[in-house]
Amino acid sequence: MKEEYLHHLWKNKQIPFHQLKLTTGEDILINDVGQHNKFESGPDFSNGKIKIGDVTWFGNIEFHIKSSDWYQHNHQFDKAYDNVILHVVYIHDQEVFINTKPIPTIELKGLIPEMEEVLNKHEFPCSTFLDELDSIYLESMKEKAIIKRLNRRISNINKFGDESNPQQILYSLLAQAFGCKINAQPFQELTNRIPIKFIKKEHHINVKTILLNVSGIGESELLDKTWIHLKSKYNLGAMSKHVWKHKGLRPKSFPEIRLLQFAEIVDKFDFETSFVYLDSKELVVYLKNLLELTNNTSKISRAMIDLIIINCFVPFIWWYGNVKMDESIQEKSLDLLQFLKAEENHILKKWKALGVSCINSFDSQALLEIYNEFCTAKKCLECEVGNKIIYK
Ligand code: SF4
Repeated sequence: MKEEYLHHLWKNKQIPFHQLKLTTGEDILINDVGQHNKFESGPDFSNGKIKIGDVTWFGNIEFHIKSSDWYQHNHQFDKAYDNVILHVVYIHDQEVFINTKPIPTIELKGLIPEMEEVLNKHEFPCSTFLDELDSIYLESMKEKAIIKRLNRRISNINKFGDESNPQQILYSLLAQAFGCKINAQPFQELTNRIPIKFIKKEHHINVKTILLNVSGIGESELLDKTWIHLKSKYNLGAMSKHVWKHKGLRPKSFPEIRLLQFAEIVDKFDFETSFVYLDSKELVVYLKNLLELTNNTSKISRAMIDLIIINCFVPFIWWYGNVKMDESIQEKSLDLLQFLKAEENHILKKWKALGVSCINSFDSQALLEIYNEFCTAKKCLECEVGNKIIYK
């Protein structure tokens, strides 16, 4: 239970006012809940209006979890609290006096739902608080979430990649991005079987032929002599075609199509990492040009180009900056996200329904992370928003 939760219920009149009685048993009428002093020191609400018996009182209202907090917070020594007309507490554990006179007190325990109950009941426990909250807290949480997401990507990269071979890491990340969630695994397998150093060593090879043949869903092996030669030179084995998934994909996202596009990019790109030193604006133009294919049959859609940048280049640059211990490189990952369009999916629709929209993919990636890693896991305690509203 947190004091801000009590403020929220009071301000939004979500307290059964008709059932309220003072701790002395006297009736009390709340005529005006007053104004919330969110940012100033002094009592929590000012200009309240209450009626006890026949007397109407105007003044400040103070909230605490326990009435004894009054003394814990040393309000007895602070003149700003002298005209408190009502003390609202969750648990009344001690009589409180102002200049020897007991303060009229309301105990809320048993009259309002437990905060933890509210948290568990809603998908977004903070939903009813969000519109009152200074946007700075969600913005700060978004940044924290993005960094958490990117650092998780570093851990994943370190599991499959070798720091001394950033070209292979980039090549593998690019393949996984082409595979999206459904075919990321076989795409990664493909890059393990035919590493980038082989492809770039063999200047004369037809990249498309070799990748399609190793994938197991390409052209017939027997038709290409280069393939037969490389197969024996590098001891290449073809993958089973059954590892590639089609279910749930639209034809233009079938692995056969994505493989052709991937092969064209692999052919076009040298996988050198010097691009990370471009400034952010040049970087986004460079990457978009790189992923733009002029051949109409293998054209990559704009949304897919953005997705590839989000899932391959953004984590790669973040990882690379970390390896080089250069924050200015890492910053570019965050900048890149700001230049890309926000994704659309059912989770982001939920945020939109709460009044939280995305301007770019920094927003969308951050909100996805918050939802997946904090909201659904009920980790409001670790969330800046939850901390401010509920747990402060
Ligand atoms: S984790 Fe944060 S954003 Fe998500 S529901 Fe809890 S307080 Fe709200």
